[in-house]
Amino acid sequence: MSKKTKAKSKPSSKARKYVYFFGAGKADGNRTMKDLLGGKGAGLAEMTNAGLPVPPGFTISTEVCNIYYKEKAKIPAAIDREIEEHVKKLEKAAGATLGSTENPLLVSVRSGAKFSMPGMMDTILNLGLNDDAVEGLKRRTQNGRFAFDSYRRFIQMFGNVVLEIPKDAFEHEFEAVKKARGAKLDTDLDEQALREVVDRYKKTAKAKSGRDFPQDPHQQLKMARDAVFRSWMNARAIEYRRIYDIPDHIGTAVNVQMMVFGNTGDRSGTGVGFTRNPATGAKEFYGEFLINAQGEDVVAGIRTPQPIRELEQVMPKAYKQLREITTRLERHYKDVQDFEFTIQDEKLFMLQTRSGKRTGYAAVVIATDFVAEKLVTPKEAILLVDPESLNQLLAPGFDPGEWKKIPTATTGLPASPGAASGQVVFTADEAVAWTQQGKQVVLVRRETVPDDIHGMFVAQGILTATGGMTSHAAVVGRQMGKPSIVGAARLEIDEAGRKARVGDQVVKEGDYISFDGLSGEVKIAQVASKPSEILQVVSGTLSAKKSDIYRRFDTLLTWADKFRRLGIRANADLPDQAKLAYAFGARGIGLCRTEHMFFGEGRIPIVQRMILADNEADRRKALDELLPLQRDDFYGVFKEMHGEAVTIRTIDPPLHEFLPKREDLMVDVARLETAGKLGKALDEKKALLHRVEQLHEFNPMLGHRGVRLGITYPEITEMQSRAILEAACRLQKEGRKVIPEIMIPLVGLVKELRDQKTIVDRVAADVFKEQGVKVKYLVGTMIEIPRGCITADEIATEAQFFSFGTNDLTQLTYGFSRDDAGKFLKVYQDKKMLDRDPFASIDTVGVGAMVAMGVERGRKTRPDLKLGICGEHGGDTASIHFFHKVGLTYVSASPYRIPVARLAAAHAALSVKVGD
Ligand code: PEP
Ligand code: MG
Repeated sequence: MSKKTKAKSKPSSKARKYVYFFGAGKADGNRTMKDLLGGKGAGLAEMTNAGLPVPPGFTISTEVCNIYYKEKAKIPAAIDREIEEHVKKLEKAAGATLGSTENPLLVSVRSGAKFSMPGMMDTILNLGLNDDAVEGLKRRTQNGRFAFDSYRRFIQMFGNVVLEIPKDAFEHEFEAVKKARGAKLDTDLDEQALREVVDRYKKTAKAKSGRDFPQDPHQQLKMARDAVFRSWMNARAIEYRRIYDIPDHIGTAVNVQMMVFGNTGDRSGTGVGFTRNPATGAKEFYGEFLINAQGEDVVAGIRTPQPIRELEQVMPKAYKQLREITTRLERHYKDVQDFEFTIQDEKLFMLQTRSGKRTGYAAVVIATDFVAEKLVTPKEAILLVDPESLNQLLAPGFDPGEWKKIPTATTGLPASPGAASGQVVFTADEAVAWTQQGKQVVLVRRETVPDDIHGMFVAQGILTATGGMTSHAAVVGRQMGKPSIVGAARLEIDEAGRKARVGDQVVKEGDYISFDGLSGEVKIAQVASKPSEILQVVSGTLSAKKSDIYRRFDTLLTWADKFRRLGIRANADLPDQAKLAYAFGARGIGLCRTEHMFFGEGRIPIVQRMILADNEADRRKALDELLPLQRDDFYGVFKEMHGEAVTIRTIDPPLHEFLPKREDLMVDVARLETAGKLGKALDEKKALLHRVEQLHEFNPMLGHRGVRLGITYPEITEMQSRAILEAACRLQKEGRKVIPEIMIPLVGLVKELRDQKTIVDRVAADVFKEQGVKVKYLVGTMIEIPRGCITADEIATEAQFFSFGTNDLTQLTYGFSRDDAGKFLKVYQDKKMLDRDPFASIDTVGVGAMVAMGVERGRKTRPDLKLGICGEHGGDTASIHFFHKVGLTYVSASPYRIPVARLAAAHAALSVKVGD
């Protein structure tokens, strides 16, 4: 990592650098230093270097955050001194001094990690004000109202964030002054009133914290810095990192920057925006602003801001400059920018720029537009789309016919597209509790705050009464790909009463509500949804010509296909799944679980007869009945794969999975006996119970399953190979290409595989003779038990291909039961013993090492060995990077994950080398 090389390349006598200055056209850092400066710090440095109007400041690096935690909430004196030196430098650049009664310097203190975590950590504005400096500010600006408004904001923020006094305590005082003076809006309060607010706030702070409000700005700065570091470990930030897989150890930087003021009057303002619409991807300047306000007013959703185009009328010069700068930034970064600005007395300042979070839909539109505009190459465009976000494009929408039938109750701002329908809940905790009971909920809030993140995560959608397109709910909703509507102003929410009113309609907790995150319409009803446009095209119900988004999606994935090295196959058991997978771009089947076909209509009784047979002849009779059924299934699957390789696995699960439960049978037998019904039915039940008891296993997952079934009942392998090969012959005779790969599961001994391979080869010879044709086929194995990995060199003497079964391999490497691990894995994650669920994302260190060993040893014996993976990890982005690195031939994923896998494989090819 860059910080390690940096440390090494420095002479050891020189002290390490922890603080990075930016100002007056020059910065110590740049855009590549996100690890150290965080996204915000790196962006400020880069903008400063580019000569943009950025207020000066400095960034305390993320390393200091880690030191703060290591030293048990203390910052070493040397770092304190380095910070103080930078304060002096900042005072010089700003031409103002902290605490001065003539020209006081005010600063903002903001968090900023490598990855943006909107609203999760803390910020303090107007720091540096005290009873003297506020008079200095008044003198300098000739604006007493502004000076005291800034001071009261500072006390409130500092009081809340640093002294941990609840916001309500301040709100209460503020409302009291407003009421006493008959003021409706905050802006109605004059200097005198605000002086009173400040007095009351200081008293509140003292009463609640037990000490006077700190007056020394240097002390304030230290306290604020530490509070920002503390906020790295607050519950919502931890939860956010867990959801987005952001490691805890990277820490946050702290940015200290000269304040500029959007609240000096009507020639000032503040806003946020995007260079393109982050919900739809449309090429439009997008954002909002507030006149006479500070930044937090926009994001918090307290006042509903104005759309940014209106800025053109109010302050045309600043607007023009803002457009120029942001267009330049988009070209410079080759990505959509999310920016913050402040206009102080008509002078524009840039406070932040970063890559803009967007919906999956917008990501695809933007990436394809960027290529059309020649802003990026297809290779760069691929990297602009997060593979996971493609899932959002597959999410359902409402049936337009159904949707039209229901009257619209209200309309809000369409913050994040998608159809949401569910039962109303009014708190994030309820959303979680109801979801755990299997209900689908829509989270309805006045406004959402960062603490709601857990509820937003589980809800079908998020609907708020206040806030703008860049309020917290909108930003987080978009990022999660959750349908979201904000600022549905007709919605009056009575959270305590657990109800809401829209016009004369009352919506109670548990009532159904639906909304369309693209149009902003809200309806009080449950509305059935319909498949996404892309799914409609893929399944053939909509023409690709009619769907702009499908064509873009397809273009992007076709680009991805050019760069990826990994093949993409699907886990599909039935012809219709194979068809969908092929349409999504899978080229081959990596796993067809034949036993799933046993559950088809009318088949279970035959399967049960096969299992219940206590002699080979009876078992063969049942198998003869199954043969044509399986053959037809295989024929269908082969056909849907249009000549691509199809890996079919012989039976894998323990046989009792196909029989009724032992307890149920015991009840049935007891019932028949007590009712005196002593005939054939009772005898049959008893026989079944007897066989179920015979088949009972203490550890079925480690028991009579996989290759062990084929070894003890060779006739099953015979029937399945015959069905596969007869189907293949039929296709070949019809002039179609077919590549069958017969896969034996759960092999740990080469002799197991040899035994089964002999059967397959014998059956193949018979079938080819009978059919008068020969089909090229392969026999291989799953590598899913540790012994298989360890002896992969031996196994490869028989196997023509390997497919890693990482579900079982994870189970057996960890010794965690696949079926029971849910009970304790969450605790492991909470206790930081595991970062992620190893069944969802490959454990590269342990299970991954097993895979790497299998690859190396297998290829030693057979250099051209085909290597695949068909466990659930085949559709997981991080795992795909790993599989690319260890040099597998292909990944196999469920049909709906195919687009994600195609893009993730391209990302892997463009960012990691095989063998790295
Ligand atoms: C596996 O174990 O990874 C696998 C794909 O097989 P199954 O999930 O059917 O055990
Ligand atoms: Mg398995």
